[in-house]
Amino acid sequence: MQSQDGSAQSLIDLGKRYWLPVYRPRDLVLDHGKGARVWDTTGRDYVDLGGGIAVNALGHQDPDLLEALTTQAQKLWHASNVFYTEPPLRLAEELVEASGFAERVFLCNSGAEANEAAIKLVRKWATAQGRPADKRVIITFRGSFHGRTLATVTATAQPKYQEGYEPLPGGFRYLDFNDAAALEAAFAQGDVAAVMLEPVQGEGGVLPATSGFIRRARELCDQYNALLVLDEIQCGMGRTGTLFAHTQDDVTPDIVTLAKALGCGFPIGAMLAGPKVAEVMQFGAHGTTFGGNPMAAAVARVALRKLSSPEIQANVDNQAQVLRDKLAVLNSELNIFSEVRGRGLMIGAVLADAYKGKAGDILNYAAAHGLLVLQAGPDVLRFVPPLNIGEEDMAEGVKRLGDALRAFVAG
Ligand SMILES: *Cc1c(COP(=O)(O)O)cnc(C)c1O
Repeated sequence: MQSQDGSAQSLIDLGKRYWLPVYRPRDLVLDHGKGARVWDTTGRDYVDLGGGIAVNALGHQDPDLLEALTTQAQKLWHASNVFYTEPPLRLAEELVEASGFAERVFLCNSGAEANEAAIKLVRKWATAQGRPADKRVIITFRGSFHGRTLATVTATAQPKYQEGYEPLPGGFRYLDFNDAAALEAAFAQGDVAAVMLEPVQGEGGVLPATSGFIRRARELCDQYNALLVLDEIQCGMGRTGTLFAHTQDDVTPDIVTLAKALGCGFPIGAMLAGPKVAEVMQFGAHGTTFGGNPMAAAVARVALRKLSSPEIQANVDNQAQVLRDKLAVLNSELNIFSEVRGRGLMIGAVLADAYKGKAGDILNYAAAHGLLVLQAGPDVLRFVPPLNIGEEDMAEGVKRLGDALRAFVAG
């Protein structure tokens, strides 16, 4: 790790002393950013190939986002859902139009809240269908990640996130991702109300749904009268090369959840509801104090417009190719990856057996070489850079990656 000056170390000590110790950040304190670069409090610069965990999709200090935020900040910060303000009204219309399937939108503040709303909507819908509580099962998949609230962590079919929080809410059934036969068998039990999945699993290792899997899920949902819920919180908003990842899977979902890049760093989440479910929740059925906050909505409107643009989608394709090519070159030199997978600028490099469990160590080497990347579990390096990253920053980022990986392998 880099050595820190006294002030950075004393700040880090505050975190170690006062934060609930649920995180383990790298030992550096970020101070400001511009585009795909960030600087720490010692003035050192980093290329940001992690984008704040797939959040800062337009990098840092995007002038249009900044303008939207500061303009709204000088007008009205919060009005609650007791009164209308313009930004969330416009945002809802724009999300519906961009989605091509949704009729209504529920705005909230985070991914977990969007998924919580989706889970509640599935249950309300099943209730309205006259199904008893034990026939409202939601199928989710091993390796998924849907959030940290009690319901969404239960939807998250990974024991490490659930341990110690029992009793967990019921009504979820876990299957292996991309296992169509298991999905058919699960539906045959006759109690399934919904299938919930990420078109590209993020936290679980950057694992895309195999071709045809989501289509099969859609067919089964139609056959058994169940809902298809897609969690696009990480893979949505242009990250995979299309605004919504699922258009590449050629399916029409009933519910889609968004967050992360929707606000490009300002907290906001959304649940998009298609025709089967758009009228299910009526007055009083759900709510949130901050959801649809005018500042968040003003920023998200600009994010949506920019991230839907052909320029961004072309840049995702081009920079993804640059990154993949470089990973292939590094791998032929170092033999460090067993597989590189993902879609668009959501790329996972799976560590070879000799380096299993070492993703966290590599992140330390990367930071020491001026590069921010992420892991997705202990065995996968995750690259989710800003979608507007330029050639120069990508070139510098992959150069630093090479230096970091060489140092890691040597040391
Ligand atoms: C990050 C994430 C969430 C949870 O979002 P929060 O804003 O952290 O609550 C849910 N689903 C997916 C796919 C995510 O990547």
